[in-house]
Order: sequence, then C-alpha cells, then structure tokens
Amino acid sequence: MRKLDKPSFTQKEILDSCISNMTDLNLVTLLVSKSSEFDKAYDLYNSHAISNDLHLIAENHSIEGIEQNVLKKLYKDKLSKDGQPARIYYNHLMDLSLDSMCTACGYRPADTLDHVLAQTKFPAFSINPLNLVPMCIACNKKKNSDKSDGKDFNAIHPYYDDIEDFLWLKARLEEEVPFEINFEVDELASEDKELMKRICNHFDKFALNKMYRIYAGTEISAIIYDLQEIFNGGNSTALKDELDRSKRKRKGIYKNTWQFAFYEELSTNEWFLNEMLKLDITSILKG
Ligand SMILES: [Zn+2]
Repeated sequence: MRKLDKPSFTQKEILDSCISNMTDLNLVTLLVSKSSEFDKAYDLYNSHAISNDLHLIAENHSIEGIEQNVLKKLYKDKLSKDGQPARIYYNHLMDLSLDSMCTACGYRPADTLDHVLAQTKFPAFSINPLNLVPMCIACNKKKNSDKSDGKDFNAIHPYYDDIEDFLWLKARLEEEVPFEINFEVDELASEDKELMKRICNHFDKFALNKMYRIYAGTEISAIIYDLQEIFNGGNSTALKDELDRSKRKRKGIYKNTWQFAFYEELSTNEWFLNEMLKLDITSILKG
C-alpha cells in the first residue's frame, strides 16, 4: 500500500522504444499509425483511475485495428525482456520506490511489474506505465486477473491514492498466551467511506494481517528477554518508556506500518505492561 509518484515518462516513449528495433516493418507502420489510439487509451485509463472507476472500463478493451496478441507481445517480447531497448522503462518502473518494495504489501521486495488491469483482459493497457506497478510474486498471485466488483473493491493504486495522510492501521493484542497480536483497519479513520472500504478490501485481499502477524512474532521473540528484564526491575514506567521510544523510532515517512501499530499497542495495553511479563517466556512464545 505504498504511494509512488506517477512515472515521468509517457506511453509514447515506451512504444517508440518497443518499435525501435523491430524488423517487421509492416508492424512498425501499423503501430505508428495507431499512435493516437494508444494516447486515447492512456487518457481513458488516467481519467478512470483519477475517479476510482477503473472497474467501468469494458473487458477486452483493445487498440482498434491491432490484434490483442500483438499488444501482449509488446510487453512480453519488448518492454519486459532483458536486452531489449524498452527494458530500460521496465527497470525505471521497478525503481520508482525508494526501497524497491512491493506496492501492495509494502514489506516484500518487488519482483515483477503487475498489470493493475490484467493484460489478458485489457490488452490496450499492456505497456501503459500508469497500469504497471512494482509488486512481489506473493501479492501478484493473490491478486489474480479477476475484474473488480466495483468502486469499493478497486485495490489501492500507488500512483493515484495517498493513504498515508492519516492513521488507519491498528494492532490488537490478544490478552492470553502464547503471544498473539492481530492487525486490522480502523474503518472510522477517515470520513471517506469509499476509501476506507477499499483499504479494508485491499488489506483482506493481500492477507496483510497474516503477514504482519508473522513479522510481529519475529519481533516479540527478539525483544522479549530485554522487556522482561526491564519489567523484572520492578519499574513498569521504564517498560512503557522503552516501548514508547521504540514506537517513535518507527515513525518514518509511512504512518501505517506494522511496527508502529505493534509498539503503539504494546505501549498502551495495560495487560501487557502489568501482567504478561510475569509469565515464563516459554509460555509467552510459541514452540
Ligand atoms: Zn507484496
């Protein structure tokens, strides 16, 4: 769920690069003659994405006069293929984020470019940079090519949606052992109900709670001995101070990180601060 600046280059630049070393001159002539159709498709996508209406674009939307297979091959054999001139644009898109992380989950390295509107159903956007976002393989598999069921189900789009203006990710410690913490979306975090539903659906679709729980389990294993030592010192204020310090350190450019939500919950949960660390660590940790 990472926000990225829109790609600075145009679809026309990509298309020109794709055809720059084509040997089929008839195909080159055809593609050049359809340049304005590519521009129209680009503008259609942009206007629908701005209004969160990508689901309204009809399936099999293509470029008139060009076979769908040709459009798909522009991506497969030119834009994404190592050694091709257009591959430079693929690499630029992969490098759009500072840390090269997946834009859907935010916590695994991006492995590939995902077609927001699947190229199998929307070949007109196969080389449209606005439709191509860095994603990890795991999220790419979860996403599948199904069309969105409506506005509320359109995944958060990294070039159009900014969901870092407000805090919406929360953690909830289950007050029992072994240690278990769950992550959820605060549906009341914004008055924009449509956006909140989209965040919730995105969160569920990409199974982010499961992923964040695993990371949180690793984190608690790493810090539990230290925290218990502070707790056994008999000073619960010192424990809270330590957790508050850890929370502040996790406050970076992204507000909605599992780390910030994790420390926010631990530093404010009375049961964790006063009771849990009385227990044996082996009963707190699984296994
Ligand atoms: Zn991912």
